[in-house]
Amino acid sequence: MKDLPARRLLLVHAHPDDESINNGATMARYAAEGADVTLVTCTLGEEGEVIPPALAHLAADRDDALGPHRVGELAAAMKELGVTDHRFLGGAGRFRDSGMMGTEQNERPGAFWATPVDEAAAPLVDVIREVRPQVLVTYDPDGGYGHPDHIQAHRVAMRAADLAADPAYGTGAPHTIAKIYWNRVERAVLEAAFDHLRTTAPDIFPGIAAVDDVPGVTGGDAITAEIDGSAYAGAKAAAMRAHATQIVVDDEDAFFALSNDLGQPLLTAEYYELARGVPGSVGGTREDDLFAGLPEAGADAVAETGVDSVREAGAGAVREGRTGAVRDGASGSASGAGPDSASGAGA
Ligand SMILES: [Zn+2]
Repeated sequence: MKDLPARRLLLVHAHPDDESINNGATMARYAAEGADVTLVTCTLGEEGEVIPPALAHLAADRDDALGPHRVGELAAAMKELGVTDHRFLGGAGRFRDSGMMGTEQNERPGAFWATPVDEAAAPLVDVIREVRPQVLVTYDPDGGYGHPDHIQAHRVAMRAADLAADPAYGTGAPHTIAKIYWNRVERAVLEAAFDHLRTTAPDIFPGIAAVDDVPGVTGGDAITAEIDGSAYAGAKAAAMRAHATQIVVDDEDAFFALSNDLGQPLLTAEYYELARGVPGSVGGTREDDLFAGLPEAGADAVAETGVDSVREAGAGAVREGRTGAVRDGASGSASGAGPDSASGAGA
């Protein structure tokens, strides 16, 4: 039996490349620190545009072979970040990229956007109950910028977090995620970075994006955590570069462009809004660690006693110790007196 690592981070993203753009430095940092970093990607990004002319034939309106290619790009990116646990929701190809909002791809059978939230949440509940993360990172309710797969990823992640905590749902020991964060970018920081782009490298890409083109932009007040990823800037840039059909990164690792050829800053500080849970910082200052305020978990096996006790974890209760038995889904021996879904009247 092997105990789970003390710190366990789960990220839920819509397409391959979103994780590296939004959270590459954060993922590299926690992987390097020995935390359990799990990425769940909801689609293969089959509807993405293709940047390299030599690969243009992969696009959905030609060979429709972009999805499998992006599986390889994601694997290469995760290698750069040191992340070994990356999965596709329900298995690769279970849910298809829904395309941009308002396109006919939105409602195609199998499209992620056209899938009922509970149906898509079910395989994520399994992951949550296996990995038992203390921290979940996903998008805000608008998906950062309104892409249907990003909105759906938000809904599915939030719903799965609720269902995973519900002893009456499904099989496996319930698990409550102590802290849920939404990806953010600080407007003032971004504006300064765009100014830098305009003054130092105005011609590096055919055009320059607008601040409001960047997903998750918000005022500083909404941001509750800031991860300084400067030590992992190279890893983040390399991971972004691995998504070669989707992203071009400049030689200095300072800027990048998507298929629209519009340059934007490559930020190595990454920003978050705590949407659920107790902040671990005092006096309203920003957290510099997504696990701040959580008990150092995993030191010993503490019985899972159900939803209510785990909700207190942010206030200091130690409830997150885990045994191999729980990871295997055989929760009976590890469970305490509380509600126990191991016998699982499946929902
Ligand atoms: Zn995306």
